[in-house]
Amino acid sequence: MDLNENEKFEHEEFKHEEFKHEEFTHVESQYATLKRIVENLDLCFARFTYPEFEVIEYNNKAYELLNEINTSTGLQMALVEFNFYNLLPVKRDIIELIKLAFEKKDNYQEVFKYNIFGKEVYYKFIYQPLFGKNNNIIEVVAIGFDVTKDTKSRKKMEKALKIQDEIYANVSHELKTPLSVIFSANQMMDIYLKQFSYDECKDKIFEYNNIIKQNCYRLTKIINNIVDISKNNTGNFKLNLSNENIVDVIENIVTSVTEYVKLKDLNIIFDTDVEEKIIACDTYQIERVMLNLISNAIKFSNSNGEIRVNIVDKDTKVEVTVKDEGVGIETKHLANIFQRYYQVDKSLNRNAEGSGIGLSLVKLIIEKHGGKIYAKSKVNEGSSFIFELPATTIENDDMNYINNENNKIEMIKTEFADIYKI
Ligand code: ADP
Repeated sequence: MDLNENEKFEHEEFKHEEFKHEEFTHVESQYATLKRIVENLDLCFARFTYPEFEVIEYNNKAYELLNEINTSTGLQMALVEFNFYNLLPVKRDIIELIKLAFEKKDNYQEVFKYNIFGKEVYYKFIYQPLFGKNNNIIEVVAIGFDVTKDTKSRKKMEKALKIQDEIYANVSHELKTPLSVIFSANQMMDIYLKQFSYDECKDKIFEYNNIIKQNCYRLTKIINNIVDISKNNTGNFKLNLSNENIVDVIENIVTSVTEYVKLKDLNIIFDTDVEEKIIACDTYQIERVMLNLISNAIKFSNSNGEIRVNIVDKDTKVEVTVKDEGVGIETKHLANIFQRYYQVDKSLNRNAEGSGIGLSLVKLIIEKHGGKIYAKSKVNEGSSFIFELPATTIENDDMNYINNENNKIEMIKTEFADIYKI
């Protein structure tokens, strides 16, 4: 009986040992599987002791990241010591911040930027505490992953929002001026109509009505510009291309403004070395470019000056120049005038209004056509604005440009609203 009992006990003992062994190999194989997964994860993984932050282990991805960062800065990996700061390259002391987060029973997260072979990449690292039996922190597990795509699109959005804010701030200021002029003119009309008979104040009413009309055109111009800038910011500014004779388009717009230019005691002359040059362009947008450049030439010219519009056929491209004999632009300002809201003289002694948006839109339109624009100038001698358009055509698109004078008059009134009393 005793023996049997003994045998039984030994047997049980043996079975228990066998079970423990099985359990151990089971756990070990699970651990090995887990380790293999972690090793090959597309995430950086590392474990550190706490609170010393000494490296316990790390996976391939963490090593690869470190290797890429170091080799791109010319460091030899064999000489790199693996410690907390370089294993997941955090670039600055964040241990105190991690400890602080852990004290608050939180994890710690931060995004770091690296330059790997000239490319900007962003990694987010999360530091998570591991707790022992007594609820004390025994280890720190860190994982890091590539957030370049998300970070870049977030930065792009932040930039777009900043531009949007800038536009609102500038534009609301721009809108206020014509609006308050309209309001005052309207109040004056009221006063006249209350105090005098219609016949007595008829002239004044017409005068104020004209002021209102001109400022409505100015508002239209500003709003058109804002719409285009917003469209461009959201990627919705699209050209309506057709194959057209660019010489006709430019000549017609010059002819349409000739009378307006004369009213300002200026002369406009058109010249071309080619009669026909068919290129793919958006005629409405090219007319806007021309009106903007001509209205600037008028604004910054002195009486009796000359404005020359010139076309040169350069085979693979067409070159259009708008040249004036006006005040000119100092060299130091030349590179900036195509920037939005840039004005050389923001003071009120300018001889016309303006918002500093015109040239940035002109540049945008020309670049959308695949062309480029630049300016040459000498103070007190005048300025030349030169743009080039590629002489390419699009398939299956017949000419559809119609020289519609009525549409053009409205367009001129809008684009010239800063300089003309209508
Ligand atoms: P604005 O509405 O102020 O005219 P633009 O973007 O059209 O805005 O022009 C920006 C600035 O470039 C102008 O304020 C002016 O200082 C300068 N500029 C543009 N065209 C000329 C020109 N033909 N002669 C002199 N200065 C010019």
